[in-house]
Amino acid sequence: MKNYDLAIIGGGISGLSAALILSAGIKANGSLKDKSIAIFDAGGSDALKAKFFNAPGVKQGTSGKKAISKLVDQVQSYGIAKLYNTRVTEIIRNEECFNIKTKKEKEFSASNLLLATGFRNWNIEGLDLPIKPFTRTDNNSRVAIEHKEYKVKDNIYVCGLLSDVSSHYPIVAGTGAQAAINIMYDWSGQWIVIHDK
Ligand SMILES: Cc1cc2nc3c(=O)[nH]c(=O)nc-3n(C[C@H](O)[C@H](O)[C@H](O)COP(=O)(O)OP(=O)(O)OC[C@H]3O[C@@H](n4cnc5c(N)ncnc54)[C@H](O)[C@@H]3O)c2cc1C
Repeated sequence: MKNYDLAIIGGGISGLSAALILSAGIKANGSLKDKSIAIFDAGGSDALKAKFFNAPGVKQGTSGKKAISKLVDQVQSYGIAKLYNTRVTEIIRNEECFNIKTKKEKEFSASNLLLATGFRNWNIEGLDLPIKPFTRTDNNSRVAIEHKEYKVKDNIYVCGLLSDVSSHYPIVAGTGAQAAINIMYDWSGQWIVIHDK
């Protein structure tokens, strides 16, 4: 079984934004060249219900379905992150890594996790996490996870709505990007910022 360096759980706006920045960083930085990433997505991004008019840089009237599909293409153009279209059902931490079980009854392992599953519920068994109510809405069924600078505990990071930020494309994308930069810092000891030109 392949052990990924990072498993991103949730391939919505924030998880894909993180994957994009990580892919660019891994491609550009020799010290990260062996890092591997998997994205697991259950296919229920909030963005799929949206039509974007106020998302910076996104053509007005773009459907969320198209926005997500373009993000997937952008991530896959680097050939670094592997996307699995399946729901993660359980994650067990052992001494060396996390064992990840999915709905399709496959098992994976990863050394680090980036949790990007949105704020609707926490539906993965097995991890002991500081779950708390999401604070930026009156709807008290929403959830978030406590963190410091997107780090929840050793080897576990969070981004997007699950990190308790307001529900807007640029905001959640930014948390994914920042979490990605922080992960690359923890891997390399350097602040890696990729400006293509
Ligand atoms: C109707 C509607 C309209 C909107 N309109 C706008 C707008 O006009 N402008 C704007 O800026 N924002 C808008 N938004 C907000 C924007 O879509 C969200 O802020 C954004 O999608 C949240 O990103 P996220 O990555 O945190 O979560 P999501 O994009 O929801 O992604 C979470 C992903 O995690 C996956 N997941 C969950 N559990 C698991 C699991 N166990 N295993 C694997 N995958 C899992 C889900 O299937 C989903 O794909 C709108 C939202 C809605 C609902």
